[in-house]
Amino acid sequence: MWKLFFTFLIFASAIVLVFIIFQIALLGDFYRTNKINRTNQLIYDVSDAIENQDIQDFTQNESLLLKNLEKISIDEEAAIYLYAKPYSSSIVGATNDTLIYKTISGGTFSKLDSNLIDEIWEKAKLTTYDKFYAIISVNPVPTFNQIQILDVNSSVRNLTRDLSSQNDSIMCCSFVRLSDGDEYLLVLDNKIIPVESAVATLKLQLTYIAFIVVVFTIVVAILISRYISKPLSVMNETAKLMAKGNYDVVFEGKGYQEVNELNQTLNNTIAELRKTETLRRELMANVSHDLRTPLTMIKGYAEMMQDIPGENNPENLQIIIDEVNRLNVLVNDMLDLSKISSKTIELHPQLYSITDNLIEIVDRYQKFQENNEFQFILNYDQNINVIADESKIDQVIYNFINNAINYSGNSKKIEINQIVDGSYVTISVRDYGVGIKKEDLVCIWDRYYRIDKGHKRSIQGSGLGLSIVKGILEYHNFEYGVDSKVGEGSTFWFKIPLKE
Ligand code: ADP
Repeated sequence: MWKLFFTFLIFASAIVLVFIIFQIALLGDFYRTNKINRTNQLIYDVSDAIENQDIQDFTQNESLLLKNLEKISIDEEAAIYLYAKPYSSSIVGATNDTLIYKTISGGTFSKLDSNLIDEIWEKAKLTTYDKFYAIISVNPVPTFNQIQILDVNSSVRNLTRDLSSQNDSIMCCSFVRLSDGDEYLLVLDNKIIPVESAVATLKLQLTYIAFIVVVFTIVVAILISRYISKPLSVMNETAKLMAKGNYDVVFEGKGYQEVNELNQTLNNTIAELRKTETLRRELMANVSHDLRTPLTMIKGYAEMMQDIPGENNPENLQIIIDEVNRLNVLVNDMLDLSKISSKTIELHPQLYSITDNLIEIVDRYQKFQENNEFQFILNYDQNINVIADESKIDQVIYNFINNAINYSGNSKKIEINQIVDGSYVTISVRDYGVGIKKEDLVCIWDRYYRIDKGHKRSIQGSGLGLSIVKGILEYHNFEYGVDSKVGEGSTFWFKIPLKE
């Protein structure tokens, strides 16, 4: 349980750690880099828009150019300034003031000092850069020396390094030519420096989030270890008992749906194991008893015939032969059943006339019975072909008739019926004997189930007959059943689908 808890905690902490590293430690750089990249793109876009425009366009409020610039300024939260060359006499209305145009929104400054513009201009002209960043240290007072010019194409890394001071101002500039052929200075004030305060706020927020995530993770880890591990460890203890051969345990670790389902499955499994175990014990007891009895008889009679010359007669020999036959039946039945149980039985279905087989079987019973005490009646109205494993289905019919003979009591009438009903043919064997009690009806198909447990030896049979029948019919997917009333007799039946 604690292992799961700690694993989960370590996993969650790793996630939070990665989150902190990426978001808190790298946030400033990421934010600034992003901003610089966007500013770089912007200076190209804006200077392209302004290049070769008429100077008049900047004085007409309704001009498309101004609308366009205003839109960019709002979208990017950047102020756009256009300055004429300082002290240039060629500028309309220019005296000391060289600002030609400024967007209404955005920007840190309402207007840049014309001296400053002059200095930027002069300093930029000393370089070959057409588009550049001007970094101005405003503290204490801007001087010529405190203006630094950097190419816009210089790597973002250089720029972010140079932007280390909170007090610096940075402007992205470009020289542009208007239609009059004069050079102007385009300045973008894109608030790169104030980013720091936004980053700081975000960092604080992220720290809170990280803290909340850690607390939340701990709570979830505790809950998970309680709801997942606890029922599983309870089940594990029960399973250990089961492994030791104790099949009386009950799985009851309560938890979420999957655990409950697993409990249910394990409880069903253990119920099956219990059944198998009981069956195995019963089987051992029955097999050893059933094998021992005929063997004892054979040994006894054989010894008697050997020791007492007068006992060496055909009657005693017949008893030995009967017992050997009984053993033979038993061993064959056991073999059949083990094949059925282990599902190694192979079916060889073929088309054949079941009516012909019924006639033959009934005929055989009639011929081979001693002093004609049983009356076998076969009812059928047409010759029917079915697809099934012929010998196995014969085995089923023999089994039903043998049982009918064995449990007929005083009534000696046995009916074998073939009834065609729609797309099925139903074969049934009816006797008018002892019948079967309602509560025994389901159990008689189980191996070694005998209603009359006390008189095992009085009736021929291994006690496996009906379970073999059940196996064969289920293998064929044929419906089967029994209708019976105590004292009135029983009807054992099965249905075979007819060939189209
Ligand atoms: P067995 O070798 O004992 O006949 P079966 O599996 O064939 O074994 O039958 C199981 C039990 O079902 C029998 O012991 C008997 O109690 C009952 N049974 C089977 N057939 C009939 C029947 N025709 N009438 C009454 N009881 C029957």
